[in-house]
Amino acid sequence: MVSSSSMDKHFITELKKKLETTQKVVILPHKNPDGDALGSTLALMHFLIQNKHEAVIISPNDYPNFLNWLPGQEKILKYNKDPKAVRLKIESASLIFTLDFNHLSRIGDLEPLIQKSKVDKIMIDHHQSPDSYATLMYSDVTMSSTCEMVYNLIESLDSKAFNSEIANCLYTGIMTDTGSFRYPATTPATHKAIAHLIEAGASNTEIHQKIYDSSSFSRLKLLGIILSNMKQIPGLPIVYMTLSQDELNSCDYKKGDTEGFVNYGLSLEGIIFSCIMIENESESIIKMSFRSQGGFSVNDFARSYFSGGGHHNAAGGVSTDSMATTIARFEKAVLEQTDKF
Ligand code: 5GP
Ligand code: MN
Repeated sequence: MVSSSSMDKHFITELKKKLETTQKVVILPHKNPDGDALGSTLALMHFLIQNKHEAVIISPNDYPNFLNWLPGQEKILKYNKDPKAVRLKIESASLIFTLDFNHLSRIGDLEPLIQKSKVDKIMIDHHQSPDSYATLMYSDVTMSSTCEMVYNLIESLDSKAFNSEIANCLYTGIMTDTGSFRYPATTPATHKAIAHLIEAGASNTEIHQKIYDSSSFSRLKLLGIILSNMKQIPGLPIVYMTLSQDELNSCDYKKGDTEGFVNYGLSLEGIIFSCIMIENESESIIKMSFRSQGGFSVNDFARSYFSGGGHHNAAGGVSTDSMATTIARFEKAVLEQTDKF
């Protein structure tokens, strides 16, 4: 196992060696893939196919409609829809890439299939505390997004390879993971990559419209409900919001409708920690998202209290208790952390 905190020479040299012969590649994003997971896996797929490899993306499950225009997304195999085809692809793969996650638990039911596979696994990821399943890894928590990492990778393997498909995919993931280029991990290098991607054919204005101006009426109704459900923990710069399954059903909820809602908490003056709890009756869980501004680590918080993780300022977790119990656990947890606020 070779680890690297950035894209070092070893990583590139070893990867080049592996790509000298034609490979049958499986590329995996995490469960409930977001813009960065889909953008990075699709860009890598386009690049590998350009270079005469076979490449297929296997997603553990579905993704939101606002991403269903990304070039090449129609070819993605979904394990929840097509388990047989997925199994065959994994069994015949000669190389596996895992993108935008660093623990196999993040791919849900696919985990045992990937664990069983004996082929080399290559991790490209920007989350904290990588696990040790990969034979080769490019892991860098300072990176804005996995898409910026795939940009760096393609740039160093073949800087002429960027076409409009790759550019649109990478632009999308960098944009979504940086909150449209505003989070602290956005660097001059991020903006240089973005400039190059626009030159290479990324339709920047169109991408913003497709992602941010494509809400359904029901999504905005849900936003109304969640904003009126928002509560502040008395005396602390913390808010939380909830959505029950009944509330979701009343607005004809579709996957992705609640994306970004947690950020509204941080738009309140003085609030530095926002949490959203969304009931999922079919999986018997409450899915939680956490966002913070500044020094408070929601990654640590999610790991300590809600079996989750993520980044310093953006993380997620899960509760198997009822909504009422989950709220009580959340309130108790933040009260244990008051010295941090
Ligand atoms: P979101 O709140 O947008 O779902 O996720 C925020 C960040 O936390 C993302 O980087 C995502 O990969 C990570 N994340 C979300 N849920 C979980 C979880 O249950 N476990 C872990 N380890 N990370 C999560
Ligand atoms: Mn990401």
